Amino acid sequence: MSDFIVNGTLIDGTGAEPAPLRWIEIDGGRIVDVVSGADNARRPLPPGAKVIYDATGLTVMPGIVDAHCHISYGVARGMEEQDLYASAEYRAIRAMWHAGQVLRSGVTAICDPGGSWNVAIAVRDAIKAGMFEGPRIAAAARYLTSHTGLADYYPTWIGAPKSGVGAITNDVQAMLTEVRAQAKNGVDLVKIAASGESSILSPGGGSVPAFRREELAVIVDEAHRLGKRVTAHARSGQAIVDCIDAGVDWLQHGDFMNKDQVKRLADSGIPLCPTMTLNMNMVNWGHVAGCSQARIDRVSRDMEKSVETLSYAHRQGVRMMCGTDSGFAVTPYGEWHAREMELFVTLLGMSPLQAISCGTKEAAFAVDPDGIGSLEKGRWADVLVVKGDPVDDIALLQDKSCIRALFKGGAALDLTPQAPATRWPWEKSLEISHGELRYDAVHAKRAAE
Ligand SMILES: [Zn+2]
Repeated sequence: MSDFIVNGTLIDGTGAEPAPLRWIEIDGGRIVDVVSGADNARRPLPPGAKVIYDATGLTVMPGIVDAHCHISYGVARGMEEQDLYASAEYRAIRAMWHAGQVLRSGVTAICDPGGSWNVAIAVRDAIKAGMFEGPRIAAAARYLTSHTGLADYYPTWIGAPKSGVGAITNDVQAMLTEVRAQAKNGVDLVKIAASGESSILSPGGGSVPAFRREELAVIVDEAHRLGKRVTAHARSGQAIVDCIDAGVDWLQHGDFMNKDQVKRLADSGIPLCPTMTLNMNMVNWGHVAGCSQARIDRVSRDMEKSVETLSYAHRQGVRMMCGTDSGFAVTPYGEWHAREMELFVTLLGMSPLQAISCGTKEAAFAVDPDGIGSLEKGRWADVLVVKGDPVDDIALLQDKSCIRALFKGGAALDLTPQAPATRWPWEKSLEISHGELRYDAVHAKRAAE
């Protein structure tokens, strides 16, 4: 027998105008019918219909999809915390708790584009096995990177730690071996660090390509041969174009494209996940999180360029999906997953309805393109019910007090807050100080007699 969610205002995630909802019929976890529109306002429910939720006065929309959330990062304050501290075992358990935080903010699916060990895969499988409630997860493992790519954070004489998020693959054999190992370990997707922010290679800032085009093609071809999709971190415009040529399935960031590169991306039809939330959180509130002024200034300069590039890309018709880079201390789990939708409106000039599509149906491309992301016949019934009108106020989706109900595959999820977790001293680097202590800073100079 079918379940019914009835009444309220429907925003279906396709970009269609909101409409009065009569009912969503759910069977076996999937949507079998959506009845909406003024004409159907008084349509009687089928006899014996089991109403599982009456959303009168509320908004009914797809569960939020965050296409860029690193579940293994553990609220890292820096790269050493991300890569070195906490064991694999502790990381996996911690990530499971963090997945609970993500869920409670209205998120029913995430794509984890890279992290340490096989943490995202383990969390995905524990949720799928029914051990814990959590979002659907598309999982990657370590980023394939090179000595000029993101995630090769340490000097060459130290190398990449096993626990780090980067797998350094400087030659073709290493690339093939890493892709095959990841496929064997059960990834859904392979993540490439196609560019890096090396302060030695580009002292003025910006981003340098990490691989040659033919190397990218080797990685992509092998992943595709094994049935795995590929995404790439690519801030440099050259890296974006090389990834398009290599057949990468979707791209992250794209901050530093020129107009020709934007055109290539638009023509390719490949979606871009700009992931501005991490940087904009630092620009707006970095001082609250204890970021240095120098970092805030640098990120602000980058964001000026990014916003110019990305709003142009939006106007040129580049497909966009919402992602937030949640997992850092400036983007903790369960807090900012809907912020990218607001930024798409305020910074890129989208309508709220377009932005909602980017945070649901478009973002679903990274997880399960045909299975989730919109409230349409045949999709999984992942449904978020909120108080208020997100078309009028897109930011309300970030306020958990507006959430009234959340369903995944038609099952109501427990939104009771989790008991807060402590953080252990060994999860962070052993820092002695933030700055330098100069003699003159604490002692007046002796006046010359
Ligand atoms: Zn990321």
